[in-house]
Amino acid sequence: MSSKPIRFKIDILKLITVMKLFSTKRSVPEVDLKEAVFKGLPDDNGLYMPESIPTLPKSFFETMDTLSFQEIAFQVSKALIGEDVPDADLKIIIEDVVNFDAPVVQVEENIHVLELFHGPSLAFKDFGARFMSRLMAYFLRKENKRITILVATSGDTGSAVAQGFLNAPGIDVVILYPSGKVSDLQEKQLTTLGNNIVALEVDGVFDDCQRMVKEAFLDKELTGKINLSSANSINISRLIPQSFYYFYAYAQVKKLGKPVVFSVPSGNFGNLCGGLIAKRMGLPVAKFVATTNANDVIPQYLYTGLFEPRPSVQTISNAMDVGNPSNFQRMIELYGNDWTALKNDVVGKAYDDATTAAALKDVYTRTGYVMDPHGAVGYLGLKDYLQDSAMDATGIFLATAHPAKFIEVVNEVIGKEVEIPERLKEVAKKEKVAIPMTADFQLLKKYLLER
Ligand SMILES: *Cc1c(COP(=O)(O)O)cnc(C)c1O
Repeated sequence: MSSKPIRFKIDILKLITVMKLFSTKRSVPEVDLKEAVFKGLPDDNGLYMPESIPTLPKSFFETMDTLSFQEIAFQVSKALIGEDVPDADLKIIIEDVVNFDAPVVQVEENIHVLELFHGPSLAFKDFGARFMSRLMAYFLRKENKRITILVATSGDTGSAVAQGFLNAPGIDVVILYPSGKVSDLQEKQLTTLGNNIVALEVDGVFDDCQRMVKEAFLDKELTGKINLSSANSINISRLIPQSFYYFYAYAQVKKLGKPVVFSVPSGNFGNLCGGLIAKRMGLPVAKFVATTNANDVIPQYLYTGLFEPRPSVQTISNAMDVGNPSNFQRMIELYGNDWTALKNDVVGKAYDDATTAAALKDVYTRTGYVMDPHGAVGYLGLKDYLQDSAMDATGIFLATAHPAKFIEVVNEVIGKEVEIPERLKEVAKKEKVAIPMTADFQLLKKYLLER
């Protein structure tokens, strides 16, 4: 009589494993995955975090080197998301998102590179943008709703979002970019996709674009008539897929039988948070190196325990020029706000442009491998950490962008023309289509209401 009701209760609990997310500021209620994805930011300006992060079973780690990237991504996302997306639908989403490889390539003894640039925009942000768009489209289809994603971009985020949301059912994308302030190739990446992607070429600077987008979200008439949403980089749906490739990288080097160290070139630290979540799920990572350029707020925090945001400075690894890293709250939340515990898993390193360029050149000269400036920062952090710790480890640094994306810098440093991937050459040949607009919110509003 006594044992039966208990077993029944456990079975019920098993059936309702849905993902719950709380705000790191804890002054708003928990939400489900769908709400977190469409809201982006909780109303108390915290960041959404999963209420529980499950550990994957031992059998998964024992057999992971026999699984494909897609199979690994499916197991990891299923464990995190639970029943919010049924297995069959999640499988379709994952197979569509993870349709390019993330190979680990050896560069020198004990140093490998995880190439995250084989997606459509040639940068790791493809993983986040693609997963976010598929998840949004999945939830929208169930409700038969349409939304418009509005983004301001200074270049890089815009191209990942545009590519990521291309042809996503139920979603229109309107991108605002400052005329003449993005590189020719970046402009082509934003303006040649067509279909559900529209580019507005604003006669102004990036801040004008951002102001117009902010005004749109605050305009009651506009938000009453159109379902506006953002594709903000702190959205939880961009974080989840950034854990997949840490597992896949580990699976690729497991046979070497050494402790594994990851060095992550970082700006807002979303990429590193993906790794910390993977570790929490049981991935046996010996150490993470949080590597930055001169914008070293987090490495400083790791040395001193003081978090002191400051204005960013410009560097040759400009996608990491961040003075107030937005995922800091998530990092410390994962360690219960315990600096010592965080320091146990993560070591900080920072490098100036001269050192970064020298490493890019040195690695190319010695090995023939061409890094981009962001990857070169990651390489330096890994190399120094392995030397400092005298650890006989399998070191992996993350290459977050293809060198052709930063071709001016790379060509000059290595003294040779970088090979441009075929899909980037194709984009360069296409005709630009953009709607010119002065930096006036009323014009944006009129356009959005009339289109
Ligand atoms: C965005 C970006 C980064 C920084 O990633 P975070 O998740 O913000 O730390 C690094 N490299 C490249 C090429 C990027 O585009």
